[in-house]
Amino acid sequence: MRIIAVMNQKGGVGKTTTSVNLAAGLAQLGRRVCVVDLDPQAHSSIHLGVEVQGGTDSIYQVFAGAKTFPDVTQMVAQNLWLAPADIDLAATELELVDAPGREYILKQALNQAEVAKKFDYLVMDCPPSLGVLTINALSAANEVFIPLQPHFFALQGLSKLFETTALVTRRLNRELRVSGIVLCLYDTGTRLAGDVTDDLMLFLEQSDPQAPWANAKVFNTKIRRNIKLAEAPSHGHSIFQYAPSSAGAQDYQNLVLEVVAAEQEAEQDDRLAA
Ligand code: ADP
Ligand code: MG
Repeated sequence: MRIIAVMNQKGGVGKTTTSVNLAAGLAQLGRRVCVVDLDPQAHSSIHLGVEVQGGTDSIYQVFAGAKTFPDVTQMVAQNLWLAPADIDLAATELELVDAPGREYILKQALNQAEVAKKFDYLVMDCPPSLGVLTINALSAANEVFIPLQPHFFALQGLSKLFETTALVTRRLNRELRVSGIVLCLYDTGTRLAGDVTDDLMLFLEQSDPQAPWANAKVFNTKIRRNIKLAEAPSHGHSIFQYAPSSAGAQDYQNLVLEVVAAEQEAEQDDRLAA
């Protein structure tokens, strides 16, 4: 099972769009995928057509110790499941302040034979912060994908993010590695987008080979800015249902193919870690 945390402490960079459409694309290829919505804003739940109201089973109850992970997952399409978020999740940060082992609650909830048997992929959509929910995602994950919007300050934010993953790797999860960087909201043909991409490649090449991001790959597929991707969430559908022939669907389909191509590598890493 590949457990991927889609993470960036900045908002509006494409975390949710990437989590939902990557998951939906993998599901179309026959992989059994569960989106884990860790953002109290519940954007990926809404994007997948799940109206979250008080009383709906959500990942909040897993953090509160009231439900198991399989209990709160629901099927939203063929091969595609969702562990929804709800606004209560905003309280989790506070509620867990003094809880012992609070960084590992999600990891423990996922560490059940039933979960590994049921899913090939877990895709965790992180909130735009580095709080306890994101730390839980990083403790539970084996991979991190970072969506990045190519602009002048993007690399600055990235170093901060890398520092966090290095810290988590040292203290909480030695197996964690940053495996992919997805350029989102990409303006093809602009000088800036090209420059940021080049700088990013250089930065990765010059990194310490021991760093958890040393083998991160900048996906060849760039997710172009495409209005259909912005419209799809309000219809409660992935891009593949909402606008299957759009540039957005094409780009995410290509990304999915790159992610699937790395399956064997990920499996090998898993075995080495075990
Ligand atoms: P995050 O989860 O990091 O906050 P989102 O995935 O919600 O970011 O994206 C922020 C906004 O940009 C959303 O309104 C989303 O619909 C829109 N968006 C994301 N990617 C694209 C894209 N490639 N083209 C056009 N709009 C996009
Ligand atoms: Mg989001």
